[in-house]
Amino acid sequence: MNRCVSCEETITNPLCPGCLTKGIGQWLKEKNILLDVTNPSSGSMDPCIKCGDFIDLCTYCFTKHVYEELKIAKVSRKVLEEYTLFFHFDLERLGYYKKAKEEGVIV
Ligand SMILES: [Zn+2]
Ligand SMILES: [Zn+2]
Repeated sequence: MNRCVSCEETITNPLCPGCLTKGIGQWLKEKNILLDVTNPSSGSMDPCIKCGDFIDLCTYCFTKHVYEELKIAKVSRKVLEEYTLFFHFDLERLGYYKKAKEEGVIV
């Protein structure tokens, strides 16, 4: 069983976050944002049943990772807001969603 390398939650989904959040890659393309949204690290036991990529991050940590990358890439607030609204895997809204609110990305 894989564990998320970031939050140490057990990952029960057999798909990697990249496959689960395929829409993100599509959306980035539409926005003309060049960002590497593949898994940031590897070495887990069970590869994704779809693409064979390693599953190291849970979906939440993965979308958080992309969010941080977007910030590093200095995308506009509008883009950040759209991201948090479209790909709200921060289901309880206590993680980066809350942070985005504090930073005034989401009003
Ligand atoms: Zn995690
Ligand atoms: Zn995959």
